[in-house]
Amino acid sequence: MNAHRTVRCPTCGASVEWTPQSKWRPFCSERCRTIDLGAWANESYRVPAVGKDDEDEAGAPAPDAEK
Ligand SMILES: [Zn+2]
Repeated sequence: MNAHRTVRCPTCGASVEWTPQSKWRPFCSERCRTIDLGAWANESYRVPAVGKDDEDEAGAPAPDAEK
């Protein structure tokens, strides 16, 4: 039996040893980790941003009505 197993880096698909020495696991490197987190953040940013715009439009009175 192997003492440790390997996982695939979600970003680039490289084999990463699942050991305490693999600091960025399941990613192969800090770079791949940053790339993945960045993509995730962009994705989650997009959704609330759209929802917030909708809410503002629906909730706030039209500027013209005040004038
Ligand atoms: Zn990688």
